[in-house]
Amino acid sequence: MKTTAVVLAGGSGKRMNADRPKQYLELCGHPLLYYSLRAFEDSFIDEIVLVTAAGEEEYCRTQIVETYGFQKVRQIVPGGKERYHSVMCGIKAVSEDADYIFIHDGARPFITEEILARVYSDVQEKKACVVGMPVKDTIKIAGERGVVKDTPKRALVWQVQTPQVFDAGLIRRAYGRLEKEEAELLARGVEITDDAMIVELLSGHEVYLVEGSYENIKVTTPDDLEYAGWLFAKKLEK
Ligand code: C5P
Repeated sequence: MKTTAVVLAGGSGKRMNADRPKQYLELCGHPLLYYSLRAFEDSFIDEIVLVTAAGEEEYCRTQIVETYGFQKVRQIVPGGKERYHSVMCGIKAVSEDADYIFIHDGARPFITEEILARVYSDVQEKKACVVGMPVKDTIKIAGERGVVKDTPKRALVWQVQTPQVFDAGLIRRAYGRLEKEEAELLARGVEITDDAMIVELLSGHEVYLVEGSYENIKVTTPDDLEYAGWLFAKKLEK
């Protein structure tokens, strides 16, 4: 079985308010993006496709891939406007013979081999699996003017993370349909915020939730970066 990771680093990181895209900001001595590439490099994953913002491919190659000697990064490709456009670009660069594709946010540095192994074991049976965790807070669905419309049963509400992992044929077909139906979905007001949604909407295939960890956060704001630094320091103490 051949496994490929598509690691996304094509965002602009506006919410970080920094002078550089967040994936290059330093976290405990290394760029944020280093950590997820390191996790995949040291895992059972066979190859990595790295998606960067257009024009940053060379920077990523020299400053990250070559500096750290990542051997599994086979392709570095430019992404697109939205996250799902970047995923599309990444999937097109995955080798034809890949069996499973792990789509991961480069801004999630706490991905572990344990989580990768758990989701890989499940996806071989279920074909579409996303990592996440049950929410701890009660979640409200807001209606107009901030009025609460609904309170879903807490035990059934999960916050999803990455990696989101799919049978390669299944995710290629779903993204292929998205290319054709994107305008129609957007016209219907659908906001595409993860990969599982595309499979749910455009393939009819069931997507399964797999336990990740509460530490597998996405670093989005300056507070997240500070928290991530604290978390790494705590792990090093152990
Ligand atoms: O913007 P957000 O935090 O949701 O991004 C999640 C991941 O997707 C990040 O690793 C970011 O670099 C990536 N991304 C991308 N292309 C975009 C937007 C986001 O690769 N157009």
